[in-house]
Amino acid sequence: PTTDALRCLQRVFGYDAFRGDQEQIIEHVVAGGDALVLMPTGGGKSLCYQIPALVRPGVGVVVSPLIALMQDQVDALRALGVRAGFLNSTQDLDERRMVEAEFLSGELDLLYLAPERLRVESTLRLLDRGKIALFAIDEAHCVAQWGHDFRPDYLALSELHERWPDVPRIALTATATEATHGEIAGRLKLQDAKHFVASFDRPNIQYRIAPKNDTRKQLLELLRTEHEGDAGVVYCLSRKGVEDTAAFLAQHGVDAVPYHAGLDAATRAANQARFLREDGVVVVATIAFGMGIDKPDVRFVAHLDLPKSVEGYYQETGRAGRDGLPSTAWLAYGLQDVVQQRKMIDGSEGDDAHRRRLAAHLDAMLALCETVECRRVQLLAYFGERSTPCGNCDTCLTPAETWDGTIAAQKFLSAVLRLARERRQKFGAGQIIDILLGKKTAKVIQHDHDQLTVFGIGTELGVAEWRGVVRQLLAQGLLAVEGEYGTLVLTEASGEVLGRQREVRLRREPEKPARSAKGSAKSAARKAAAVADLPEEAVALFERLRAWRAATARELGVPAYVIFHDATLREIATAAPSSLDELSTVSGVGESKLEKYGEGILALLAEDA
Ligand code: ADP
Ligand code: ZN
Repeated sequence: PTTDALRCLQRVFGYDAFRGDQEQIIEHVVAGGDALVLMPTGGGKSLCYQIPALVRPGVGVVVSPLIALMQDQVDALRALGVRAGFLNSTQDLDERRMVEAEFLSGELDLLYLAPERLRVESTLRLLDRGKIALFAIDEAHCVAQWGHDFRPDYLALSELHERWPDVPRIALTATATEATHGEIAGRLKLQDAKHFVASFDRPNIQYRIAPKNDTRKQLLELLRTEHEGDAGVVYCLSRKGVEDTAAFLAQHGVDAVPYHAGLDAATRAANQARFLREDGVVVVATIAFGMGIDKPDVRFVAHLDLPKSVEGYYQETGRAGRDGLPSTAWLAYGLQDVVQQRKMIDGSEGDDAHRRRLAAHLDAMLALCETVECRRVQLLAYFGERSTPCGNCDTCLTPAETWDGTIAAQKFLSAVLRLARERRQKFGAGQIIDILLGKKTAKVIQHDHDQLTVFGIGTELGVAEWRGVVRQLLAQGLLAVEGEYGTLVLTEASGEVLGRQREVRLRREPEKPARSAKGSAKSAARKAAAVADLPEEAVALFERLRAWRAATARELGVPAYVIFHDATLREIATAAPSSLDELSTVSGVGESKLEKYGEGILALLAEDA
């Protein structure tokens, strides 16, 4: 069976070899076994059920909650010459009848179904009348009660096994936590399934976290120097943040569109479609955007506000670089983020235990932001994986300098203490920093704060540095934020610093946002990531191939990546093949695409010579 599978991989998909556990998984399912597959986004989950569906007799039935994307998924398969169809609520009766007829007459290799279809008796009867190769349950974490996207429809999937005991089932998810893992196996009755757990590392994503100074400018700089013309997602917390940022980027010549739940459905759909179908569109969005987006060539994900948890951050950044090419995950964070999130937690509904959970999530996120060690090591450790420094994150590329911040911490904490003890007052970071800097602002005068003994004792640092100190004290639990106005209060641990029992090491604020060596070299040439590292002579060719792809995609009404991925165009541009035979050796060029596009590409390459 393995050789059938390998042949299928090469002939249909145009890839040379399996990745990671793909081969073992496919072999296991082809032989009729059940499988539970945990693999990060971009790990190559789809092939794990698509190839067994092609190799085994009958139709592979794929259950997926991503109704809006089924059309694109089916288009992508058809472009490969795979006979695929879907049944969901967006179709009219005629369309549905046609797919059903194809299914019954054995004219389908893969059938995508929305989970609620399986609760309809007529669908079950339909499936009874055809031959099923396997059931694939995609986004299997939807069955987990504590997941973000719990769907009651998924619970019914446990009955598949009773009705079709001989049909193998494969459940797949990119959600990493152990608890979800166990729940999926339990609820889907996959007791006998073999578990395949891949590393959750995404080596092609470069993680970078920068302190905020002028966030939108910092973002624009990133786009201009490293991601000109690239597709990407920018996440903001609020709808207003989304609107303002999208407008700002558009004003500065970036092809940016907004996406949030407050926009009408038509605008949302149009903006999402542009992002999926065209090259180089930037979506500015709230986290409502992105679930199940399987666009492979998202070159960057930027967060302008602090995510609420490491899980969320990892899931959102994971949308970058599914195609394995270099991509950037960039997060800007500042003192205000911490204050705001603490406020939201304090004001959130639910009991104390719930608030403690939220606070623990935030603390883990802050620890990631303030670490002086490899970001990836810390991220993976969060998901229970051990690793060594990666060489592809900001702290690895530009090791963070630390400094002894004990005295600065003591000065700040004693200002908080004096205000509390001598004046019975609490203030936010801004006022306390003004006091330490000895600024006679109206508010300082009004409260007689220039009379405090701590007035003017902190002039060795600037405002930005002091804000960095406060941020890190908060992250280390040496200071806390309270109430609606974000006032600062001491914690138990503050006492240890004030009592000189504890040293405080702080990360030095970088003069300029950290950037990879590669990034700064590129900045002169202003190259987009998609053409980075391409030999000079291949760049022009790549751009022409991209233009050809865009035109072809428009003509066929499919997303550009359905024609060919960037990685494939890069390889064509570099190898400059002169015959169909040579072209067929390029990764991503299978039989069907060679037949459809081969001549056209060769003609385009010949023009260049
Ligand atoms: P996932 O569903 O796990 O997020 P996909 O199945 O979409 O990932 O695969 C991610 C990308 O990797 C796709 O562009 C896919 O075509 C590509 N890919 C998967 N397996 C291989 C392979 N063995 N060789 C080359 N490319 C692969
Ligand atoms: Zn690293």
